[in-house]
Amino acid sequence: MAVRDRQQLIRPRVRVGSLAPTMKIARPLYDEMIAHAREEAPNECCGMVGSSDGHAVEVYRATNAEASPLRFRIDPEEQLELHNKIDDAGLDLGAIYHSHTRTAPKPSQTDINFAKLWPGVLWIIVGLDGDQAEVRTWRIEDGQVSDAELVVE
Ligand SMILES: [Zn+2]
Repeated sequence: MAVRDRQQLIRPRVRVGSLAPTMKIARPLYDEMIAHAREEAPNECCGMVGSSDGHAVEVYRATNAEASPLRFRIDPEEQLELHNKIDDAGLDLGAIYHSHTRTAPKPSQTDINFAKLWPGVLWIIVGLDGDQAEVRTWRIEDGQVSDAELVVE
């Protein structure tokens, strides 16, 4: 339970993006998340997306403190550091991304539990289970998972 306790130490202090189920993202930022996923494979990668008005503006890589192919965790210190960067840039925390290297890019129960700590952000999952990366985006609110959309422009 120590891990969960640590995760609860830090809650988003940055403004989170709107609950709009769509985020627009430029191709280089989209590709950056896929590149990060490939570099970390077979472990899961993770990071945050700073956004403004429903547009992704910056992708911030984070370190998966678990270094695991099954789960991810961002240390509270790094969460705080990333929040400050996002805040200093005048952005919102629009999304949290991570990868699934062995399963479909759908939220696991672990993800759904973790998402309770992060209301209002979109969940981007980069799936590397097949030959091609498959990126899916989700809303997870109160334990309910629904489709969201990442529009690459
Ligand atoms: Zn996951």
